[in-house]
Amino acid sequence: ALAAAGAALDRLTRVQADFPIPGVLFRDLTPVLADRDALAALAHALAGAQPDIDLVAGLESRGFLLAAAVAMVLDTGVLAVRKPGKLPGDILSEEYALEYGSARLEIHPHDVPDRARVLVVDDVLATGGTAGAACRLVRRAGGIPAGVAVAVELTAFPGRRALGDVPVLALRSWA
Ligand code: AMP
Repeated sequence: ALAAAGAALDRLTRVQADFPIPGVLFRDLTPVLADRDALAALAHALAGAQPDIDLVAGLESRGFLLAAAVAMVLDTGVLAVRKPGKLPGDILSEEYALEYGSARLEIHPHDVPDRARVLVVDDVLATGGTAGAACRLVRRAGGIPAGVAVAVELTAFPGRRALGDVPVLALRSWA
């Protein structure tokens, strides 16, 4: 599944210059997600990131699409890691730094069973700010961030370093 997923990413990812702002080379995975065989290959490859996963965390918004597919392969549920103000009731909230300013992610802590091994899934890993905040939320909720699994890692950014000792699986590493 690893080789098939990598080949699908090479073939189907759309690269868009200056999106959403000038200077950003945006990796658009929507054509990958829309392809039946590519989606299956990605889901199976990401599902193999770490053993004994109890729960898959999806990062809003594009991470949701992959996380649900990975959870079906692993026979687990999904944890919604959401942008601020979307979740009602009891929440945990983590702020993280962006190039300019900051952002915030939120979860329902009661959705994380005690000591659950959680796989954090997203489409693209850049600075690691987003995935790092998700790992902190999992820890604060009593779970264990067992790994971060992404389709693409952008090696121009120190994403892996930002994640400390949480193991990272990337199906493709691009400059
Ligand atoms: P970061 O927190 O810097 O690791 O950024 C990761 C988040 O931003 C992910 O949710 C990605 O979907 C998105 N992202 C950042 N850079 C890119 C890029 N060049 N192409 C596509 N998505 C990106």
